[in-house]
Amino acid sequence: MRRIALARRPSGLPVPEDFALKEAPMPAPGAGEVLVEVTHLSLDPYMRGRMDDAGSYAASVDLDGTMVGQGVGRVIASRDDAFDEGDLVTGMTGWASHAVVPAQGLRKLDDRLPPTTALGVLGMPGFTAWTGLRDFGRPKAGETLAVAAATGPVGSLVGQLAKAAGLRTVAIAGGAEKCQLASERFGFDAAIDHRACVGASALREAIAAEAPDGIDIYWENTGGKVLEAVMPLMNTHGRIPICGTIAWYGGADGTEDRLPKVWRSILVKRLSVNGFIIFDHWDGYPAFLEEMTPRVAAGDISFLEDVAQGLENAPAAFISMLTGGNTGKQIVQLA
Ligand code: NDP
Repeated sequence: MRRIALARRPSGLPVPEDFALKEAPMPAPGAGEVLVEVTHLSLDPYMRGRMDDAGSYAASVDLDGTMVGQGVGRVIASRDDAFDEGDLVTGMTGWASHAVVPAQGLRKLDDRLPPTTALGVLGMPGFTAWTGLRDFGRPKAGETLAVAAATGPVGSLVGQLAKAAGLRTVAIAGGAEKCQLASERFGFDAAIDHRACVGASALREAIAAEAPDGIDIYWENTGGKVLEAVMPLMNTHGRIPICGTIAWYGGADGTEDRLPKVWRSILVKRLSVNGFIIFDHWDGYPAFLEEMTPRVAAGDISFLEDVAQGLENAPAAFISMLTGGNTGKQIVQLA
């Protein structure tokens, strides 16, 4: 089997040398375990945090350990009664061609939808959007929502759910192509290219023009320039679900020294700012699947996937995703 190991801890944005492709003997499942041949691997921004040894909400990857991640694949050997050879499953396989996974950590997939949907729109990112918007965004018809990384699996579903709830939706995305996708494919009312706006003030002006009544929900995916642009546009009693701060995953970007200003506007505007980690909410996942699977199957919800080829190309795809090289949910198809 082949796996991608963490070769060293990155400083700032990861580089290819932080990863190593390794060969290893095929593992054998023990009692209660299943051997999976991975066909598709999910690449997610949270993996950047796992490469550090700084304390966080989840354990770091060890040096020379296999990079953490969710995959889908076929069972090729099972020592658990719940799974048979040939079953299509998803679980935490890591960045590897094959993985032994405890049976209780696996879920069977039905063949009616593409298996990759279990990694994106119907997987962890989709569930994040659905849960966070309902519980922390608390959308009301007639309000305005803004979200960056708007064509990614989280942002694109946040936008579609908010639009369906009767909100005006403003996308912030990198580049003209992504803005067009945000409007045409994901139904945002407006889309703003953050790369075309030099500085937070220019971005703020562009967002303000598309949010004439101010912003009631800012879905925080990025931090950085977008946060700085949006903060003064927040309406009193607005909500900010803090989902991610990808602009800062590679280190400082010069916006951090404005903390007192940001903190004060939370007070003055009486904002509800909620950090949340989706791993605390898994008990709601069956209800999410029950509601969203038929909507995705019916084409009522759009999704977009960006599929890189070959396990050896996972590091490059991951690095590229962290700076916007992906268009849609980043997946790696294994040979
Ligand atoms: P995406 O597929 O959308 O990929 C990340 C995107 O972030 C890039 O494509 C890029 O889009 C955007 N981006 C990168 N750098 C910047 C920057 N400096 N300024 C603005 N945008 C930037 O990711 P996901 O949908 O999987 O995740 C979105 C966010 O949600 C991430 O922050 C992630 O960590 C977080 N998350 C949090 C969870 C939780 O439990 N709290 C669970 C899942 C995800 P563009 O080119 O459009 O700028």
